[in-house]
Amino acid sequence: MKIKADTGRCIGAGMCVLTLPQVFDQSEDDGTVVVLDAEPSADVAPAVNRAVQLCPSGALSVEE
Ligand code: SF4
Repeated sequence: MKIKADTGRCIGAGMCVLTLPQVFDQSEDDGTVVVLDAEPSADVAPAVNRAVQLCPSGALSVEE
């Protein structure tokens, strides 16, 4: 899977970071999402999908 993050849509809610801190972080400048690992291993795929669903702004998406 490949994670895409639209920082223009991100509102810095931090749900992704709370869900999967080894993959997502937030910018110290404006709090928008920083993807630490855009192509994580398959074992974290369920948590990535949960983060995508929880994101309130629809900023996150995945490609298989
Ligand atoms: S959950 Fe969505 S809005 Fe919140 S920081 Fe992550 S990408 Fe941005």
